[in-house]
Amino acid sequence: MKLYMASACLAGAACRYNGEVKTGEKIRAMFERGEVVPFCPELLGGMEIPRPAMVLSGGDGGAALDGTARVLTRDGGVDCTGAMLEGARRGLAIALAVRPETIFLKARSPSCGCGAGDVEGVAAALLRRKGFSLESIE
Ligand code: SF4
Repeated sequence: MKLYMASACLAGAACRYNGEVKTGEKIRAMFERGEVVPFCPELLGGMEIPRPAMVLSGGDGGAALDGTARVLTRDGGVDCTGAMLEGARRGLAIALAVRPETIFLKARSPSCGCGAGDVEGVAAALLRRKGFSLESIE
């Protein structure tokens, strides 16, 4: 059976920064069939629910990997870059074990964003650099 990975929030986990659930029905159905391994880079990085909304500053997730951009809380008070990088690295470790066909990632997230016109998130950038196939889901 082919295996996939997906942002855990798309599979129905209440792991978004504000604790809200925003399930993607396609991903939820795949999860219930046992086809999807869910992961949340921000929780893997040690963040909690709820947590402040975060934004990339000075570049995209790739720039954050390169040390030229930061991830800050939306009010600018706290630098969360270290946790975001750790979460991305842990997500990559899971992907290297699972070897998913595709990784479905939630749009407009500083971790998971990867769609056209979206700012690529930190975890998405690392997974893309390592050759994984990514698909953005609203
Ligand atoms: S978009 Fe990514 S980091 Fe944000 S809650 Fe969903 S899985 Fe976690």
